[in-house]
Amino acid sequence: MASVERLSSVCAEGTLLCRVAGDEFAILFNAPLETSKKFAGRLVDLFGNGMQVDDQHISVTLSAGLAECPQHGSSVRVLGRAASAMTSVKISGGGAYAVFDPGVELKQREELAIARELRQALSRNQFELMFQPKIDASSLQVTAVEALLRWKHPKLGAVSPEKFIPIAERHGLIEGIGNWVLEAALKHAAEWRRTGLRMRVAINVSRFQMRQDDFAARVEDGLKLHKLQANRFTCEITESVAMENTAVTRRAFTRLEKVGVHISIDDFGTGYSSLSALHKMPANELKIDRAFVTDMPHSAEARAIVKAVVQMAQALNLRVVAEGVETELQRDMLVHAGCNELQGYLFAKPMTAQAITLWAQEAPKSLLQAFRPSLFKETNGPQLH
Ligand code: C2E
Ligand code: CA
Ligand code: CA
Repeated sequence: MASVERLSSVCAEGTLLCRVAGDEFAILFNAPLETSKKFAGRLVDLFGNGMQVDDQHISVTLSAGLAECPQHGSSVRVLGRAASAMTSVKISGGGAYAVFDPGVELKQREELAIARELRQALSRNQFELMFQPKIDASSLQVTAVEALLRWKHPKLGAVSPEKFIPIAERHGLIEGIGNWVLEAALKHAAEWRRTGLRMRVAINVSRFQMRQDDFAARVEDGLKLHKLQANRFTCEITESVAMENTAVTRRAFTRLEKVGVHISIDDFGTGYSSLSALHKMPANELKIDRAFVTDMPHSAEARAIVKAVVQMAQALNLRVVAEGVETELQRDMLVHAGCNELQGYLFAKPMTAQAITLWAQEAPKSLLQAFRPSLFKETNGPQLH
């Protein structure tokens, strides 16, 4: 049954059903909010099992927004407010309904304003990469640096990537930003190579970049352009993205594996990886999520998880990096558990590319006692399997 027929089949007499845009419909009826909610729930369920078009089963979801007149606005405004509630449902994954909430609408407006600024950020040169070292747990040599993006806006100040990356993803801006990060990181990597610094350079790869058709090709071309070895360049991909196991992410992994880059599974422990899924993935490294590192000193459970992750990684020939190491106690526990590399404020905060180079040349002992830049180390890491 087509969408319109389905919708009209549940609309009672006297209800107005109209098509607003391509796949957007408005339903107007006279009922208390509680009744409208039940109705919206039925609409969502109506599409829960997808649709049959000819002999093909298509997965569709319905997202609904409810607004009441006059509580949520005049008759002129109410449709826009219902649309705003619907947008909030779509952003959180769809397949549900929500009642208009002025707070959410305000956030959406703020987000739109940020997205507008973000659109200009590249051409206005407002991005910068900071780099945070990863340290070998036994020798304290620097094995790698991870590029972390910063947005410096003249009015908004320094906006955290945790805030602007999800907005960039939702507004279709991540591809341009991700390409910039890749190019900038490769440029710095080439510079460091020229000055004799032997360490990997890592970038964070967003879910949407994994869906970008030319991502692996861009990595390959960039490596060639800068004459860099592929396995000295790391792509950090979060566990939740790695486990999506969709045709698109599988293809992206295969392509990256072919290019030969070092693959790191980031925020490990927050998703629900199965051993077999991990085994099939062309990963070289697992990064234990900061939450476990933070909890280790006071939680037996966190300690058990870290230990299990290390054992599993060893069995699969993967290196284990622990991130967010802030205290000596955490460091000692992680070393004891068998982590190969450590990263965190205890060793170094993210710093500019120039600061990394200076460290290497001048070894400013005051910055970090245990950090000896003359000891930059090249890890061979396990082979792809
Ligand atoms: P992440 O990849 O898990 O990066 C680690 C975050 O923890 C960084 O935050 C880093 O500054 C912070 N951190 C490092 N050591 C410590 C520590 O000892 N204690 C504490 N409390 N924090 C520590 P940052 O730079 O704000 O980045 C946040 C997230 O934004 C990153 O998490 C990553 O998911 C994302 N991100 C950053 N740069 C990029 C990028 O270029 N592309 C994409 N797609 N995502 C990025
Ligand atoms: Ca990361
Ligand atoms: Ca992480």
